[in-house]
Parts: sequence; structure tokens; C-alpha cells
Amino acid sequence: MSTMPVTNNANTEPSAAGTGAGALVLFSGGQDSTTCVAWALERYRRVETIGFDYGQRHAIELQVRPHVLDGLRALSPSWKQRLGPDQMIDLKVLGQLSDTALTGDAEIMMQANGLPNTFVPGRNLLFLTLAAALAYRRGLDVLVGGMCETDYSGYPDCRDETIRSLQTTINLGMATSMAIETPLMWLDKAQTWQLASTLGGDALVELVRTQTHTCYLGERGALHPWGYGCGLCPACELRARGYLAYVQGLS
Ligand code: ZN
Repeated sequence: MSTMPVTNNANTEPSAAGTGAGALVLFSGGQDSTTCVAWALERYRRVETIGFDYGQRHAIELQVRPHVLDGLRALSPSWKQRLGPDQMIDLKVLGQLSDTALTGDAEIMMQANGLPNTFVPGRNLLFLTLAAALAYRRGLDVLVGGMCETDYSGYPDCRDETIRSLQTTINLGMATSMAIETPLMWLDKAQTWQLASTLGGDALVELVRTQTHTCYLGERGALHPWGYGCGLCPACELRARGYLAYVQGLS
């Protein structure tokens, strides 16, 4: 088992890893990855984003992405200056290979192996490997992802040990010295809301609350205190509970 985290979490000091060339953030349009983009914008002079269309049941998280990026640019002149191009990669082959509640119509449930059927096997491994290939071409030396081991759904590809192993494999396989930074790895959802506040104040919290999308079911009807969503799926429950704890922590 791993004992050392890949990153030092909410620390906003410049990273020791990488040469300072810049960061590529895995950006889905959700709360976590939006917070990761803001985190990267505070640390790196050049930040680009990558997203994947893997045949998600609901394309809404892909639709909110450009609006969230525009919102981040509007929050700070230096963020606007640092935030570079966004790439959307067609990865529908992943949806063809897997049979999960995120890519099909199956009801969300726990499987016999102890993993929820929202787990898409190989997803983060593919995302990070493809992101590394793009970073290689773009001359970026840090990958940033919102993987989290603290408050997560038990996905094995969110584990710090998995990410550290993949970082080693990528650097061996590409003869690079890329760093994979996971600023949320040891944070719970309330601390992720708090991190957004630390990075961008109430304006960033409000952007995350009203513009990002987390709900597994793609529900975007009513705006709840914690944002849009069905309120019942595991992603909404986690987000809502975290927001409540964050707000209670303020008072
Ligand atoms: Zn939901």
C-alpha cells in the first residue's frame, strides 16, 4: 500500500515536479475537475484542458464545459491569460467496450465485486495515458486530475497507488518526466468546496455551484443550494452532503 501522497493537496506553492512548462488538466465539467483547473491556474503559468466524450449517458457535462471555462476566465485577469486551449477527445470506443450505468441505461447498483456499476473499467487509465500523449505534443509536463481516495465510490483507478504507478509507467513508456498531480486525493467533498473558496473566493464557489455538473442522471431542472442535479444519485448525494458540511463549517 502507498504511504506517500502524489501531491500535497491544497498547498498552492509551485510544484517541485515538472520543469514549469505547464499543466494539462483533465476537465469533465464537474465540481472536482473545475476546482482542479482553478488549482492549476494558481500554480502554473500555462494551463490547458482536455475532456473525453466516452459515450456518457448524458452529454450535459460536456455541454457545460465551455461555459465553465469562460466563467473561470471572467474571474481573474491572470487566469484568463494563463488558460489556453481546450481539447475534446472522442473516446466512444470506451462506451462500446464497457457495460456500465454511466454509458448504458442500467440502474445504478452495487456489483458482486463490491464496485458500483458506475465504474467504467480502464477509464482513468485511458484518460491519463491519452492526456500524457497530448501533453507530450503540447510541451506540457504536468497532468492534473481530480481523482480522490477520500470520499470516493471505491473506484480502484482513483487510488493514489494507481496514479503513482501510472505516472511511472507513462514516464517509462514515453521517456518523459511528467508529474501527475491530484490535488483532491486526500480531501473530502466539503474540503473540495473549501479549496474552491480558497482559490477563487465566493465567486468561484458560485461558479462551481451553478455552472458545473456532477449528477449521474444528467438532471438539470431545479437549482438546489448545492447546485443542479437529481439529488438522489450517489454523485448528487456526495455533492449535496459536502456542500452542507462546507456551509456549516463557515457558520
Ligand atoms: Zn443526481
